[in-house]
Amino acid sequence: MTQLDTRSVHAGRDDLAALGVHVPPIDLSTTYPLPDVNTGGASYDSLAQGRGPDGGSLVYQRLWNPTVARFEDALAELEHTDGAVAFGSGMAALTACLLAGVAAGRPHVVAVRPLYGGSDHLLSTGLLGTTVTYTQPSEVAGAIRPDTGVVIVETPANPTVALVDIAAVASAAGDVPVLVDNTFATPVLQQPARHGASLVLHSATKYLGGHGDVMGGVVAAGVEWVGRLRQIRAVTGGLLHPLAAYELHRGLQTLPVRVRAQQATAIKVADWLSAQPSVGEVYYPGLTDSQHLIGRQQSGPGAVLAFTISGGFEAASRVAGALKLITHAVSLGGVDTLIQHPAALTHRLVPAEAKPSDGLLRLSLGLEDPEDLTADLANALANALA
Ligand SMILES: *Cc1c(COP(=O)(O)O)cnc(C)c1O
Repeated sequence: MTQLDTRSVHAGRDDLAALGVHVPPIDLSTTYPLPDVNTGGASYDSLAQGRGPDGGSLVYQRLWNPTVARFEDALAELEHTDGAVAFGSGMAALTACLLAGVAAGRPHVVAVRPLYGGSDHLLSTGLLGTTVTYTQPSEVAGAIRPDTGVVIVETPANPTVALVDIAAVASAAGDVPVLVDNTFATPVLQQPARHGASLVLHSATKYLGGHGDVMGGVVAAGVEWVGRLRQIRAVTGGLLHPLAAYELHRGLQTLPVRVRAQQATAIKVADWLSAQPSVGEVYYPGLTDSQHLIGRQQSGPGAVLAFTISGGFEAASRVAGALKLITHAVSLGGVDTLIQHPAALTHRLVPAEAKPSDGLLRLSLGLEDPEDLTADLANALANALA
């Protein structure tokens, strides 16, 4: 097969020339004409059970949408899985994965902390009927029970960008499927299915979209999981809108270029931050003890980092407020640089024992010139800490 950069541009588009078009058509139909009752009924059965359209009618948008399917096919190709299922947000995608465990009578979840605050909170509340054991990567095997439906890992993890050895967790999990949240690394830097993950989840809102203007979630998986998740999506309705799917599919075309450029900037900014006396710890995979996984599991350190400011919460919030070029906002992975305070915002609902430090800021590097970014940071550090 051709290289990742080539497939990012062309995946999910191989039939376009035959259709006589240059970009994918957007299909906004909510319903589809039925050739006759029996054919329509057979199509409905196939789609509602999570199989694809079998040449009959597409029936109804909640069951199938061709624009969404193109994005799914493209993402699956980049993640090296049989297929993918897209949802209206990353949390809707995670919800579908958790409901699959509950439906199968295995509601227990083993979750490796840290996780994105929203995922941590969804598990802590037990809202979906799941129970959870939080654990460390080295203690996964001991945490698994007969009713464990899934092991959840995020690597790099939000917000400390700690790396977890996916193959080691998959081996500790045995027959229990491992879900890897690959939002931070993207398939450009890491393809978890190649290391034993059964489910690869993205908040597509972040790097896949890449421009801060579209929400979505997607799970790449093997054929059985794809069927199960499509079925859950059809029943619960956590759909990705076809216009959003079009944008996400287009986002994949520039994903490798964006991720590598943003990563190059992150490397420079991480080095710069490490040399500042007012900065305590810099959390960045290239700098920390998970170095051994760079190259083996993840091809580069990525474009998100976190750092602490001496002076704790007050100092960190003053720095966030004093930046001019860098936007103080949650989310990440877009073309513009964003900073936020995880303990106060994205990880606000995480219980005290697992909450990030009060002095920690998370920085998602964009496509600006790195020297403009460090100048903005230098100003903010000087003003806020004067
Ligand atoms: C943002 C995020 C999510 C949630 O995705 P939404 O699209 O906001 O629902 C899940 N995991 C990670 C790592 C995230 O950064």
